[in-house]
This record gives sequence, structure tokens and C-alpha cells, in this order.
Amino acid sequence: MNEVKIPISAIAEIQYCPRNFYYRVMEQAEDYNHHILEGKYQEDKRKETLKTTRNEISKYRNLYLASEQHPIVGIIDEIEETEEGFYPVEYKKGSKKESVRDEIQICCQAMLIEENMDTTVEKGYLYYVESKYKKEVVFNNELRELTLDTIELAKSIIEDQVIPEVVNDNRCLGCSLVERCLPQEVSQMKNNITTNATVRPMPSLNLGRTLYVDTMGASLKKRGGLILVTKEGETLNEIPITAIDQVILMGPISVSTQLLQELLKRNIPVHLNNSYGKALGWLNPVYNKNSLLRLAQAKATLNNSLCIEIAKAVVIGKLLNQKTLLLRYNRNIKSSEVEKVTTDIKDIISKVETCVDKDQLMGYEGVASRKYFSVFNHLIRFN
Ligand code: SF4
Repeated sequence: MNEVKIPISAIAEIQYCPRNFYYRVMEQAEDYNHHILEGKYQEDKRKETLKTTRNEISKYRNLYLASEQHPIVGIIDEIEETEEGFYPVEYKKGSKKESVRDEIQICCQAMLIEENMDTTVEKGYLYYVESKYKKEVVFNNELRELTLDTIELAKSIIEDQVIPEVVNDNRCLGCSLVERCLPQEVSQMKNNITTNATVRPMPSLNLGRTLYVDTMGASLKKRGGLILVTKEGETLNEIPITAIDQVILMGPISVSTQLLQELLKRNIPVHLNNSYGKALGWLNPVYNKNSLLRLAQAKATLNNSLCIEIAKAVVIGKLLNQKTLLLRYNRNIKSSEVEKVTTDIKDIISKVETCVDKDQLMGYEGVASRKYFSVFNHLIRFN
């Protein structure tokens, strides 16, 4: 456990929902919703200055600090140094609010500063960008104890490697991981409920993670954290770089070297096609984030029992999704046939769990699919 270092922003998430913390830290979830992305963009913009001094107050920006005493690391937005001492300043998007999470996060920062700079930090500030409100946070014993308890909880979740229970309340409505977590479905399954009134999760914003540019003669260049798309001096679009995963160019489009370098630094590939969409080639980052995964997959194909376990996980995932979809639709149509099929699929899932043979597994999958599609017509509405 000594080597494991947890980002302090993730530790603060535990106060919101321990399961959310598990997804982010243990499964490296990267399901960004617009709140997170916007925060990241603002964060990127701030990364431009490292140190400034004015009126005898020095400001250090974006300092990376790690602790030896606690399993935490973090980038501190800003540290103010005055004659009286050091004060962390954490920037938050949004307007003024009371948030224990934010206080824990900045208290972790104070602990990092105290350890690394051999000092005592008595207070810090939360700056809410939207309302331009600067809130003072005093690091009293109560807050320090709560922060240490939260770090301990984070440690135990990582050590136990057991996914925490869903909270399944109002917190889930604004959670960017709701589509991965499926809190309502999970709690219904846990309580053996087959008919339900599941609320359809609000999809996170469609971020259009692939940027297509097909305007002949367009130019792309970097401006701050944005991709600027122009043609003949006119700005066609501005897209935050953090909002995209890949760029696809169709036809004669020019891209500045500065932007290409930034995209590659961020592991964003650029695909080049001719005007008819025919692939000409692509520009890939030197470090391909999937190489270790590919290697592990190739090794796994040689291990028969592991193959069965992986195949079972895939089939179970598929059957759970089918069952979930039927449950959701049956909320309105209330069909006894559909309800029966959800129960049958549930039984098949328990058989798959104990299955040890590939052919048998394929058989179960086939039976479940036949049942699923036998009621699929109930899900189609023509009015
Ligand atoms: S959807 Fe709800 S239970 Fe799931 S991670 Fe988010 S807040 Fe937690």
C-alpha cells in the first residue's frame, strides 16, 4: 500500500459517493460530463503561469506535491506565500456553495504543504470562479480528523478491491458515471425486483468526442486550450481540446504544427482522408495507450480457463443489459410476457456463472438471445 498514491481530488469524491471513487481510481473511469470537462478546461487555462510576485505576495501555481506520511498526491492550483505563511488556493468552477468535499480537498493540500515545506498551514481559500467568491477555510481539528478518516476510507477501498454499494439517491442524477453504474438497476437486482419504475438515466452530454472537419480549405490551429477552425479569416468553430478523443480530416484541410504537437501530447490521433472519405493515413502519438492492453489480450488467448472467464463476463454483461432494457421498457408496456423473459434471462445468467465449457456458454447465450428477441416486438411502437 505504501507505493499507492491517491489523487486528492479523488479522495474528496468519497464524500460524494464511495462507489464513484472506486470507479475513478480502481477502474480509471473517464466518463467526463460537461461539469468535469469545463473544470478541466479552466484548469488547463490556469496552467500557464508558475510563479508571480506582486505586493510582496508570491504565488506558486500548479505545484505537484506528494506525501510520505499519507497515501496522497496532488497538484495544488495556487499557493500564496506571505510574511505570515503559506495558504493554498483551490479554484472551483461554479458559484459559492458549502461543500465538505471542497474543504477536504483543500485540507489535503494543506497537509501536503506542511509536510513538503516543513511548516504549519492554518487556513486556505476556495475560489468559486463563477461568483468570484473567495471563501476562507480554517484547518481546525475537526476538519483535519474528517480528512484523515476520508483518506483511511480511500485506502481501505483500494486494499479491499470491493466495489462499494450504490447510493441510489439524488446524487446519482448529476453523476457523470450513472450510465456505467446503473444505480437503480443494481439496487433492484439486489432486492430481487423484476418489475420496476426505473427512471431512465440522463445521458451525459454528447460531447462529440470525434472532431470531423470536412470544409474544403479550412485551417485548424491551437489557441490556448482550444482548436480554432477558420476559413478565409472567418472563425467556423472553437472546440476545447479536452473535449475530443480523435480528429478526422476530410480533404484539403491544413493543421498547424503547434496544434498537431498538442494533439499528439494528449494522445489524440489525427486521421487524414481524401474528400471522398478514403483513408490516406493517420498520425498516432508515440505512446499508444492500448499497447499493454493488447499484450495482455494476446497472452490471455493462450490461457483456456481465463478465456472462459472473460467470455463469461462478456456474456453476463450482455444478458444483464438485455434484461435491463426489457425492465426499462416494461415500465410503460407492463407486459407479462416481457416480465417472464426478464426472469428467464436472470435464471440463465446464474447458469452462465457456473458454466465451465465454451460450447455450453454459447448455448446459454443463444437461448437467452432467442428469448430476448421473442418479445422484442413489444418494445417497438409505431405511434
Ligand atoms: S451513479 Fe450514484 S451510486 Fe453510482 S457512482 Fe454515481 S453517485 Fe455513486
